[in-house]
Amino acid sequence: MFKDRVLSGMRPTGYMHLGHYHGALKNWIALQSQIECFYFVADWHALTTNYEDPRVVAKSTFEMVADWLGAGLDPNQCTIFLQSQVPQHAELSLLLGMITPLGWLERVPTYKEQQENLSEKDLTTYGFLGYPLMQTADIIVYRANKVPVGEDQVSHLEISREIARRFNHIYGREAGFEDKALATIKKLSGKLGKEYESAKLAWNQNGDSAQLERGKQIVAEAGSLSAIDKETLFGFLTGARKTILPEPQALLTPTSKLIGLDGRKMSKSYGNGIDLREPPASVEKKIRAMKTDPKRARRTDPGNPDDCPVWTLHQVYSDDARKLWVREGCTTAGIGCLECKQPVIDAVKAELEPMQARIAEIEAKPGYVKDVLRAGCARAREVTEATMRDVRDAMGLAKLD
Ligand code: SF4
Repeated sequence: MFKDRVLSGMRPTGYMHLGHYHGALKNWIALQSQIECFYFVADWHALTTNYEDPRVVAKSTFEMVADWLGAGLDPNQCTIFLQSQVPQHAELSLLLGMITPLGWLERVPTYKEQQENLSEKDLTTYGFLGYPLMQTADIIVYRANKVPVGEDQVSHLEISREIARRFNHIYGREAGFEDKALATIKKLSGKLGKEYESAKLAWNQNGDSAQLERGKQIVAEAGSLSAIDKETLFGFLTGARKTILPEPQALLTPTSKLIGLDGRKMSKSYGNGIDLREPPASVEKKIRAMKTDPKRARRTDPGNPDDCPVWTLHQVYSDDARKLWVREGCTTAGIGCLECKQPVIDAVKAELEPMQARIAEIEAKPGYVKDVLRAGCARAREVTEATMRDVRDAMGLAKLD
């Protein structure tokens, strides 16, 4: 059994906006005190679509990390690092490339979709096709079993699980593994040992997934087994293989998708966001100018919050009583739109104020962001090198020591 770890990254796009904060960053901050977390700047990923202008990627990195820290990520509680300074990601991506069928990459739904969306760029590159492979390496090089995703992204992890499974299937053989597993089964009580063996048989012969789950449960709950024993029996359960690279699992997290000022998804490329560094006067100006339900052309026209982007902000920032006030006031024309926007303006300003103070403190310390990244990269290299030693061993690559 491997330690629970969270892995997540963001492409360096410069200053963070409220969509980034409520869509991911807030969750990262909540998780850092609960579980070991690794958060990274995905600068190699940025190059898959921005290879023509890498300098923008570098500049955006430092701005983004300063915002992460200002928002509340704490380098004493989590590891913050830069992907391109941890070469083990690239090494694992290369090695996984040896075993990944081309068709698996070509059928990733976002591959064709993104090529069409970004038709102004030439994305007929290997780097772009290999993107899911690198993403897989990013996760499993930490043996991270928890990847924070929203419900609509769970399927993105499927290819990573398939690649890890294929790797374990091909290279998870160990001399004497079967004898070791049989000896380990004896550490279970007689009844549980028999139940484990019959669950293994039912899974391997008939693909009975309920029995697979039962087998896993027996192992997980067995107080008589050490962590290594458990790892052995988990591997043996699925076919006399050792788990070298655990299959990542989705960690479903509550996120809020903020709508931008123009009613579309909040996005840097649409220029419709509110940055974490947005000055208070600009927050006020932007939200006051924000689109509302077009039915409320006049103050006396009733509207419907469900057709209004401001309502999505109330859903994030307002309590139930306030939301009721909005719904009643909007549908009866009892309140005007500026009146409705004011509590949101106040809440956004109150949320951003301490972040902006921290960002200013961080940026007043020259070299601080780089120091955080340097320390994070050292920790990341330590963890990933341990995985790579096992991977190289499992693949039987020659050693010179
Ligand atoms: S009253 Fe509020 S919810 Fe209704 S349209 Fe105006 S801003 Fe939107």
